[in-house]
Amino acid sequence: MNTFHADKAAAFTADAPRTRWHDRALWFVRSRRDGGAATVPEWEQLRDAAGAIKVHALSRLADLLEEFERNARANGIQVHWARDGEEHNRIVHEVLASRGVTLVAKSKSMLTEECGLNPYLEARGIEIVDTDLGERIVQLAGEPPSHIVMPAIHRKKEEIGELFHEKLGTERGLSDPKILTEAARQHLRRKFLGAQAGLTGVNFALADTGGIVVVTNEGNADMGTSLPPLHVASMGVEKVIPRAADLGVFLRLLARSATGQPSSVYTSHFHGPIRGGELHVVIVDNGRSEIVAREAFRRSLACIRCGACLNTCPVYRRSGGYSYSYLIPGPIGSVLGALRDPVAHASLPYASSLCGSCSDVCPVKIDLHHELLGLREEIAGRGLLPWPKRAGMKLASFVLRHPSLYRLGGRLARWVLRSAPGAARIGPGAAWGRQRELPEAPAESFRDAWRRERDGSGGRAP
Ligand code: SF4
Repeated sequence: MNTFHADKAAAFTADAPRTRWHDRALWFVRSRRDGGAATVPEWEQLRDAAGAIKVHALSRLADLLEEFERNARANGIQVHWARDGEEHNRIVHEVLASRGVTLVAKSKSMLTEECGLNPYLEARGIEIVDTDLGERIVQLAGEPPSHIVMPAIHRKKEEIGELFHEKLGTERGLSDPKILTEAARQHLRRKFLGAQAGLTGVNFALADTGGIVVVTNEGNADMGTSLPPLHVASMGVEKVIPRAADLGVFLRLLARSATGQPSSVYTSHFHGPIRGGELHVVIVDNGRSEIVAREAFRRSLACIRCGACLNTCPVYRRSGGYSYSYLIPGPIGSVLGALRDPVAHASLPYASSLCGSCSDVCPVKIDLHHELLGLREEIAGRGLLPWPKRAGMKLASFVLRHPSLYRLGGRLARWVLRSAPGAARIGPGAAWGRQRELPEAPAESFRDAWRRERDGSGGRAP
């Protein structure tokens, strides 16, 4: 299978209007993030504090995880440890199957995507329903998420109407987001009521209280875990933070960085099972210990999955989530994918302009573009790049080391640009440069901007 980012991106960019509204929609979310950040005068201090707390937590991960386990058990939570995705899936399946579960309501969790939990359970006769709206859309479409916060951002509302018609039996031709959302609500309500277990991810695990915190905008985690007696939560080892008192730092950053909201709609704390029920937490390593051991890249584990680096990345915005060979796209996915399997994801660190915008917006100050640069060095050093790229880079390196050749190349490029039809009127390179200029963020509501970009309607929808 071709995993080269540029080739996969070509499939997305072949649809120019879709590429354009994807780019604009994400830039709009990015501009909302800027607006949200601007309302907090101590924003930079919060970022410093969040980064420092995460670095501290990663430096004493084993102690904090043991402290969390002790306190969680004291709260009546059953704690399991999984070395990898396979062990995680086996544990979750054992817990569910031994209690006769056949239907699970799952809220959003990138870790379960990473472990391949859905197909694992489905192959063993357990239906698993993603209850986050975007996740449910991509699940019905048989696709993975294309964004870590907005999983169906690549889909137009007309396509969702078609999908719901086909899978949920709604009327053909629906495209009103309110009607589509209501159809999803009715469909999901039945699933919530029928589920015998709820499955969630974990945004933060609090070492000093032994509790877990799950953040959603739709309340689906709360619904999925308060109706059935069994709750299974999957958490990566890096989710632990030392104290409940640290949580506020992250919560103030998370929603603003993700969508510009001052706060997520639901921040749910679980400090034990519901009365008469069970709460299981499965703590998963799956390669994270190796990343912790690599000082230059350790900080990538500080990620709180806000998606801001995706929204700002000029490459992600224009190439879409499916051009990335790793399940997490964008700058953070390129780092994590290449760390996990540099052979399979060799092209990902090159899917970046290295503009540094990802590092600038990251709420926990991960130095993403330098980590990408470091990974490029490793990948090139191991000879993992295809020969045309290697040859091109060798040529560039040779030219850059010889100023006379560089100047000659510049003169040649200017001559080519001047000779291009129409280019003389606006100067060399200007046409190309103007195309790359981003317009001002629209001064209208998100929905109106979205409709305008998607439909090309030029204004408010009727
Ligand atoms: S790397 Fe930073 S900006 Fe990107 S998703 Fe993670 S926390 Fe957000």
